[in-house]
Amino acid sequence: MAHVVIIGGGFAGVWSAAGAALARGDADLSITLIAPNEHLVLRPRLYEPEPDLAKVELRRILAPIGVEHRRAWVSSIDTDRRVVVADGTEIGYDRLVLAAGSKLVTPAGLPGAERLFDIDTLDGARRLTDHLRGREDFTAVVVGAGFVGLEAATELAARGRVLLVDRSDVVGDQLGPGPRAEIEAALDKLNIECRLSTTVTEVGDGYTVLSDGSRGETDAVVWSVGLRASELTRHVSDDLDPLGRVPVDRWLRALPEVFAAGDTAAARVEGDHVVMQSCQHATPLGKVAGYNAAADLLGLPPRDFTPAPYVTCLDLGGAGGVFTRGWDRRVMATGADGASIKKKINQYIHPPVDDATKILAAADRIHTPLPFFPRDDAERT
Ligand SMILES: Cc1cc2nc3c(=O)[nH]c(=O)nc-3n(C[C@H](O)[C@H](O)[C@H](O)COP(=O)(O)OP(=O)(O)OC[C@H]3O[C@@H](n4cnc5c(N)ncnc54)[C@H](O)[C@@H]3O)c2cc1C
Repeated sequence: MAHVVIIGGGFAGVWSAAGAALARGDADLSITLIAPNEHLVLRPRLYEPEPDLAKVELRRILAPIGVEHRRAWVSSIDTDRRVVVADGTEIGYDRLVLAAGSKLVTPAGLPGAERLFDIDTLDGARRLTDHLRGREDFTAVVVGAGFVGLEAATELAARGRVLLVDRSDVVGDQLGPGPRAEIEAALDKLNIECRLSTTVTEVGDGYTVLSDGSRGETDAVVWSVGLRASELTRHVSDDLDPLGRVPVDRWLRALPEVFAAGDTAAARVEGDHVVMQSCQHATPLGKVAGYNAAADLLGLPPRDFTPAPYVTCLDLGGAGGVFTRGWDRRVMATGADGASIKKKINQYIHPPVDDATKILAAADRIHTPLPFFPRDDAERT
């Protein structure tokens, strides 16, 4: 029997599995998802105070749709022989979907780097939560005023004093000028002190030293910058993008028998843009890559990658949230309205469980804009 293998149990891997099961229908095709974890981790929710709520048992998604879950770590891919090595065992594939995601790269040369906290993984977020639990008041330094750093800083500000440090001379540099005024107002409102054009040069036991020479007492330093695609991308391509991602075509194919999805894939989207390392893109990337991997073996036409238009929604803690549309990030909702949209997104990203019909129907929806998003004037006409 032909075999689709998916590496990764994040959004991209899970939705690849569902996409492949959708294309399979009643045909003879086995689908295996390889990932060490027992849960799908809802990474976008790891900034929340109870990170253990941000997980879904993989068994409840994969079992109903007839996908085998092999709990193992893939160390290599041999694309000539079409095998992957998982915990030392070779597993053959006819089509492979690489969905091994990304991880935060912490600065190796930084003195005290081993003391850094992060919210990149469930274990990382748990460690930070446990470290700060029960403290009356604390001082946290958050390094990086990008998407993740801003959500971490504004959430922590409800419980302690926060210093936000960034090399750039503006906050939210990569988010562009669109939402900046909202972000700056939120940081002011929450008394978050910003040190721009600055970085951390030492993380000591209870203190932090910054590049401007200042030194302050600190209970936790949270590192948030530098996401990089899985090392497995190197086994598929020599031509990786600056984030370590594999280039793919409009059907998300990287090699004749290999597709890529999620944070490992550099796919073109909405003209000349390249997908973001985001759940927003990982989900439709998975649905299409998995579908196309199975469709290729079954002689079905492939699906184009056509996700819903790009949006962002940033949680600003006690200052609400900001929702933007488009790659120029036009602000569409702020404050309590923005926070309410974020809350709905954080519920929506939880995939359906225990029900094959619902899971497969969701895998079939590639580009449905969410009903609770404020609409553009262009969409209203
Ligand atoms: C704090 C935080 C907030 C975020 N907020 C947002 C947001 O608001 N909106 C948004 O759209 N995105 C957000 N993101 C980004 C989003 O979470 C990621 O882009 C998304 O999780 C990528 O999904 P993925 O499946 O490609 O990869 P991952 O989530 O990284 O999953 C990868 C999977 O592959 C497995 N794996 C890795 N290597 C191997 C291997 N060698 N062998 C076997 N299995 C392997 C892992 O165990 C995991 O199961 C946020 C991320 C973080 C950390």
